[in-house]
Amino acid sequence: MSFFQVNNKCNGCLACVQNCPATALSYRDKGEKRKLLHNMTRCARCGNCWRVCPQDAVEFQHLLSGGWDDVATMDLLRCVVCGEPLYTMDFSYTLSEKLDKDVENLCPLHRKTRAMDTWKLVSPEKTKPEKAEK
Ligand code: SF4
Ligand code: SF4
Repeated sequence: MSFFQVNNKCNGCLACVQNCPATALSYRDKGEKRKLLHNMTRCARCGNCWRVCPQDAVEFQHLLSGGWDDVATMDLLRCVVCGEPLYTMDFSYTLSEKLDKDVENLCPLHRKTRAMDTWKLVSPEKTKPEKAEK
């Protein structure tokens, strides 16, 4: 749906088209129909269309508010220990390919604790001795 919207008071006078400084508005006549067109890549959101419209038909608030549109939806991987969101499954594949090894799904904190645990396993003499029980 276009961010430029008009209400049912629009009578197709084309004042907005003729006064748009960015040529972001246009129209197309096809058969028995006239279509009002808007190109968001050109639109400067200047509000001139709203100002010049004699019918008070431009619903300019849609151009100002905008919104977030879904672009893509992908599977999300989470830290296997705490469940913190990490990255997408596809990103994990890319990473594994680049590094030529499987990447464990761990957040920075648990990656660090996992690395420390591994280090203790390979260097037991460097770990702190357990406190003797009284
Ligand atoms: S100026 Fe207003 S009434 Fe005229 S075409 Fe544009 S939106 Fe419709
Ligand atoms: S907001 Fe400005 S640039 Fe965008 S369509 Fe209206 S007159 Fe054109």
